[in-house]
Amino acid sequence: MLTTPALDDVRAARLEHPGLTWGLVPTMGALHDGHLALVRRARTENDRVGVSIFVNPIQFNRREDLAAYPRQVARDCELLAAEGVDLVWTPAEEDVYPPGFQTYVTVEEITRPLEGAARPGHFRGVATVVAKLFNVFQPTRAYFGQKDAQQVAVIRQMVRDLAFPLEVVVCPIVREADGLAMSSRNALLGPDERRAATVLVRALRAAEAEWARGQRAGEHLRAAMRAVLDAEPLARVDYVSAADPLTLREIDGEASSALLSLAVFIGGVRLIDNLVLGPAAG
Ligand code: AMP
Repeated sequence: MLTTPALDDVRAARLEHPGLTWGLVPTMGALHDGHLALVRRARTENDRVGVSIFVNPIQFNRREDLAAYPRQVARDCELLAAEGVDLVWTPAEEDVYPPGFQTYVTVEEITRPLEGAARPGHFRGVATVVAKLFNVFQPTRAYFGQKDAQQVAVIRQMVRDLAFPLEVVVCPIVREADGLAMSSRNALLGPDERRAATVLVRALRAAEAEWARGQRAGEHLRAAMRAVLDAEPLARVDYVSAADPLTLREIDGEASSALLSLAVFIGGVRLIDNLVLGPAAG
């Protein structure tokens, strides 16, 4: 497995055998089984697999969040070698954003609600780095997790709008045994916080149960989630949403499908999770 900080090495590896298919898995490292599920899927669908590990500073809107983000590149590389990954790009900040860098990708409407509203500038950072990764790796397919539902929507929009010649593949959310969605940030939780963190998936499942009983109103689904979250003293809600899965606009009245999503602080750690209901699910 080639592990390199140099952009030119990635290009050279990609162009050595132009006829081979490449799967790209962009990550910020501190890898867990959620990331490895993307890698395994990429492995089965492509001749070669590339992974990037880069904690992208421009997608963080809180300096303390960037500083606290877990980093363990040596261990990550061991995990990726064991998965049969061919190439890992571990750039430094100046490899991605060389001096004088001034070109950014802004996806408009779909970045405004939810994470975009809560984290100004976040998706500009995401779209910019992903566009750069697409140009560096020139993958046949790129793999993303449903864990970041709005990110998937933003990248699909960018790929369509700017005609990137690749396929976006979305993989289901991988969860811990107690339902908590795997996240690199989970490592930052203390024991009591870790127990409290299941409140996200419990809230989603409470709304799902309401849906199964025939409740279709956005307000009712949001209230069902809030009731569960309000009962957890360690949780501070950032947002609770029941939105149209395509437009991400909040459901006002009844809907035939819904993207339930939430962002919640458990202590100082901000966690997100989501669930799709109706025909758009699965
Ligand atoms: P990150 O390192 O957090 O930027 O995540 C890299 C990729 O892994 C993104 O496409 C995430 O959506 C995906 N991912 C992170 N956690 C999970 C999970 N629990 N299940 C599935 N995919 C995930």
